[in-house]
Amino acid sequence: MAGIYIHIPFCKQKCHYCNFYTVISQKYRDGFISAILKELEQRKNYLNDKHINTVYFGGGTPSMLSVSEIGLIIDKIDMLFMLNKDAEITLEANPDDLDQNKIRELKNETRINRLSIGVQSFNDDDLQYLNRVHTGTQALKSIEVALYEGFHNMTIDLIYGIPTLTDQQWLNNLDTFFRFDLPHLSSYALTVEPKTVLNTLIEKRKMQAISENQTVRHFEVLLEQIEKQQYTHYEISNFAKEGYYSKHNSIYWLGGHYLGIGPSAHSFNGVSLQWNVANMKQYVEFEKTGTTVLEKEVLSKEQQFNEYVMTSIRTSWGCDTEHIQNVFGDAFISNLTSLISRFIDDGRVEKKGPIYYLTNKGKLHADGIAAALFMD
Ligand code: SF4
Repeated sequence: MAGIYIHIPFCKQKCHYCNFYTVISQKYRDGFISAILKELEQRKNYLNDKHINTVYFGGGTPSMLSVSEIGLIIDKIDMLFMLNKDAEITLEANPDDLDQNKIRELKNETRINRLSIGVQSFNDDDLQYLNRVHTGTQALKSIEVALYEGFHNMTIDLIYGIPTLTDQQWLNNLDTFFRFDLPHLSSYALTVEPKTVLNTLIEKRKMQAISENQTVRHFEVLLEQIEKQQYTHYEISNFAKEGYYSKHNSIYWLGGHYLGIGPSAHSFNGVSLQWNVANMKQYVEFEKTGTTVLEKEVLSKEQQFNEYVMTSIRTSWGCDTEHIQNVFGDAFISNLTSLISRFIDDGRVEKKGPIYYLTNKGKLHADGIAAALFMD
């Protein structure tokens, strides 16, 4: 199982909390698609002729591309790689880009078969706090129209822990999601990353700070409601009806291979982790010069183990000691067993058969627990 990720860095404005590689300027827009097509050609052997089960347009805001540009990229992938006929092909889209014409064209003129809509909240106060371009009304409309045009494999993003989002409004946001009966939800706690506008604004006391208590309350409500509605909590921030897990993201979480195309995109083929330069000028120049835009790291055994623990412990598949025994050996197992025991004792991790899982209590501290289990 392998996937291709295409990073489209363009955004209309920078959201306050965002730390992805994005550009607002359209300066390098013209050469960008040619550079993507050229990079696909140059790296066509990276996945060693594996069948491609998923293509994911992420960003940035991939819905800022025209339907014909999206089609060009998919056609190129189909020409160069063994793209399965029923591959999951996802487009991340922002509500303000999704008018009826665009959605209809995406449905009828491309092979996009899954939409991931960046709703974040249905309340305008939250959207303004986050500095999103769209409104709550646009978010509702985009989902309605996408369903009407036949996009049933759809997911939305919702953020909780926003200071302007009351407990009741958070419940209302979840109710709105359930009313649409969509098969998938990605829901994240608002976090303040270094070097973001949100961080600066909070430090200067121009924006209300985040409350950990509120975040915990929202997370607990989320787990309660999602269970009532019979979604599976299959990754710390992801919830799905049976058969609708994100196939693309599951590749990352299950240690599969993926090729990342576009500025700042990461790739992994079982041997090396590679990442593209996070710089549009250099990325687009590569189309003319053919000069490499990659950095590369061969992962040590410890790094591979840490990567496995970090991703697996966050999922419903859990962290498998038999896998660790087979791939990494005795020293890794005994180290893990001794480090994880305190989390079992305090009820944040449980072991069923050979597999460790986070409990609901542990899910609140997933990153800290994973980091405490790393090998140096
Ligand atoms: S639209 Fe997405 S990628 Fe663009 S700035 Fe906002 S959060 Fe970041």
